[in-house]
Amino acid sequence: MKIETNNDTYISNKLITWYQTNRRELPWRETTNPYIIWISEIILQQTRVAQGLDYFNRFVARFPNVQALAEASEDEVLKYWQGLGYYSRARNLHTAAKTIMQQFGGKFPTDYSDVKSLKGIGDYTAAAIVSFAWNKPYAVVDGNVYRVLSRLFAIETPIDTTQGKKVFAELASSLLSHQQAGLHNQAIMELGALQCVPQNPDCTICPLADVCMAYLQQNVSDYPKKQGKIKTRNRYFHYLYIIYKKQTTWIQKRQDDDIWKGLYQFPLIETEQPCEWEALSQMEEWKKVFQGCGKITVQTISPVRKHVLSHQTLYATFYQIEVENTGDLSSNYQQIATDELDSYAVPILIHKYLISLDL
Ligand code: SF4
Repeated sequence: MKIETNNDTYISNKLITWYQTNRRELPWRETTNPYIIWISEIILQQTRVAQGLDYFNRFVARFPNVQALAEASEDEVLKYWQGLGYYSRARNLHTAAKTIMQQFGGKFPTDYSDVKSLKGIGDYTAAAIVSFAWNKPYAVVDGNVYRVLSRLFAIETPIDTTQGKKVFAELASSLLSHQQAGLHNQAIMELGALQCVPQNPDCTICPLADVCMAYLQQNVSDYPKKQGKIKTRNRYFHYLYIIYKKQTTWIQKRQDDDIWKGLYQFPLIETEQPCEWEALSQMEEWKKVFQGCGKITVQTISPVRKHVLSHQTLYATFYQIEVENTGDLSSNYQQIATDELDSYAVPILIHKYLISLDL
């Protein structure tokens, strides 16, 4: 599908003029430092600006450059990321910082393909870094850009298909101002964030209203087109907050290629269906956890906490359990003092539970 973009200079000029008076003042916009741009882009991929700003400020205060990030421990990086979700992004940032130190002599690469070779950096982030930092002519395509372009050109191709990705990437490239690539990219993303919002945009004040096909056709809400919803699955987590003599507990680090890899958690039993305590305590896994622990007393069972992720919904229950002996616990899990729990990076779900206990 070839889309005509006769208005390309017109559109780019309009976007940039609009951006210069409407843009938000944000710390990562006042710099051409690729490291700062990189961190801000990764944080903003998963969170709103208002929420991400605090994380960004704390993260760059502690890790102000590639070297500081590369030299930190993964646990500390994850701790600074705690609450943002998508923890693989933090691990990838850490890995990529080490790669920059080892393969690029500590200097952020300037070549698009070198930037894209870094772990966790895809087309979008590489284009954002090289265009914002060095004005290189690579067009960004994020959710905001998909929305703006799909409406501007009334594109019927669904954005969540291989064909859609190709169509939108080509269109974004053809519209890009090569002289002002960084500004153009910032402008179209900002237009999507502030003006061409998902629900009920006020098209009467849009700088592109006169060339926007969806607006002219009065069917803005029909775009962007999507192929279909992604299936989500339900998971049932039973966390065992085991306490010995009021001051010792056990945690484990998540190692598998699954959500929250590298974060800490209480010993966990996962079931495929909802499971009440009576059934849970009859399971082999439960018996294995408490092997040799003597008398076990369940002190509290939390209400089920629902936690929605992009492709799965978790239903978590926390069991606070007193044990008579430590049994095999310290062989299978990491033993710590209960008052140290706060120093480990944990999923926000567990963090909220700990806050509810007022530890
Ligand atoms: S006219 Fe409306 S739909 Fe078209 S780009 Fe502007 S805000 Fe979006």
